[in-house]
Amino acid sequence: MDLSKFTEWLKGKITFQAFILAVSAGLLLTAEILKAVGSSSKSSGYKYSSLPKACICHECGYILRNPETHCKDIRCPKCGARMWRLE
Ligand SMILES: [Zn+2]
Repeated sequence: MDLSKFTEWLKGKITFQAFILAVSAGLLLTAEILKAVGSSSKSSGYKYSSLPKACICHECGYILRNPETHCKDIRCPKCGARMWRLE
């Protein structure tokens, strides 16, 4: 058995795994940073942190119940104006 060849092979394998580890750690870190940046800009952009029960269009009076996002991000399905939170 050629021990030096085996150590060479092992070294290459370890280096490769370390490289993969470093890349995935870097990707995870980047994802975390992007998530932190995204959530912080999101929370400052909205007046309310919770989703509204309903949004109303001030142009035509259309009411959208249980929207999946904030009213300011919704365009009225009827006339295309921006929607407002209905309290
Ligand atoms: Zn409308």
